[in-house]
Amino acid sequence: MPADCPVCGQHYEPEPGFFWGAMYISYAFSTAIMLVTGFLVYHLLHDPAVWVYVTSVAVAAVLLTPLSLRYSRTVLLYLFGGIDYDPRYRTEAAPAIRR
Ligand SMILES: [Zn+2]
Repeated sequence: MPADCPVCGQHYEPEPGFFWGAMYISYAFSTAIMLVTGFLVYHLLHDPAVWVYVTSVAVAAVLLTPLSLRYSRTVLLYLFGGIDYDPRYRTEAAPAIRR
């Protein structure tokens, strides 16, 4: 993760250790992923054996970890990092760094 946004220059870490708080949001995301996966397995596979639940939930949790990590940091930045969405940068999300 870069220190600053390459498009708008927003500093990503307002204070040292800021992203420790993202751990709690990630925990909530993981819990939701596991509950939804278990619910889907129950209803789509008509209550299979326990190993199917365990495997499905583990695979879903591992596969969605990168998304959970990024979105938990994003949610924390929006809640406590003092940043807001700025539509001026919407079309300027090109990978090229122009500064
Ligand atoms: Zn930015």
